[in-house]
Amino acid sequence: MSGLVYIISAPSGSGKSTLVNELRKTVKHLEFSVSYTTRQPRGSEQNGREYYFVKREEFERMKSQNEFLEYAEVFGEYYGTARCFLEKAKGAGNDLLLDIDVQGARQIKEKLPQAISIFVLPPSRQALESRLRRRSRAEGVDSDQVIQRRLNAASKEIENYPNYDYVLVNDQLEYSIDQLKAIVLYERMQRSGKAEGSGEELAAQRKLAQECRQENIGPRLAPILSSFAI
Ligand code: ADP
Ligand code: 5GP
Repeated sequence: MSGLVYIISAPSGSGKSTLVNELRKTVKHLEFSVSYTTRQPRGSEQNGREYYFVKREEFERMKSQNEFLEYAEVFGEYYGTARCFLEKAKGAGNDLLLDIDVQGARQIKEKLPQAISIFVLPPSRQALESRLRRRSRAEGVDSDQVIQRRLNAASKEIENYPNYDYVLVNDQLEYSIDQLKAIVLYERMQRSGKAEGSGEELAAQRKLAQECRQENIGPRLAPILSSFAI
């Protein structure tokens, strides 16, 4: 089965890009939707790889011509998913992964209720702050003010976690990568009815995916939510 849509959202700095990059290395037939944005490239980002970087006027033109499946304003900049990528992925027999914010995720779930949504959380507010600072030092871009703004925005974004099918706490990176991969493969198997791998592998995959199901994650979340005063 192809044409599945996976949505992944997270407060900035949670490690979503790190996880997605690892996923892309190991899972076949999964395309990454490269969004359009009006923000400036950061660090080593390249046009057409992480994003298509466009001027505001170009984004407005695409908006008015209904070229976006969804779009939103995040941190004062526009971000949008072009419709054509979904058709392209389907045509190529692939699934599509959308790395989008909570507003975009809501729009996609309205249009494509079968989409599988995953919310990535940091293990605590403190961990999020230190990841944002580490990334900022490495890339030398985000100012202290930007980091504070992202931290404040995180609490608001996290309030949306109950709208997602899966919640993944990105604590130990290797384990989180395994969980994300398990979610993607488990959903593929559920929807196609075709199992790939040994019985043991499938059982391990199911366990990892189930741990992150919205209905199973409750107790793990309490301390995280309280660190964000939610
Ligand atoms: P996002 O895409 O969510 O904004 P990044 O993937 O850029 O976040 O990660 C932010 C920072 O946190 C990076 O420096 C990254 O290397 C680091 N990071 C990601 N996952 C983990 C983890 N599980 N433990 C510790 N640091 C992590
Ligand atoms: P960043 O600037 O850190 O790359 O991304 C900021 C936020 O914008 C992240 O939450 C990211 O998921 C979101 N984002 C990236 N592309 C899109 C998009 O096409 N649509 C929406 N709605 N959000 C996006």
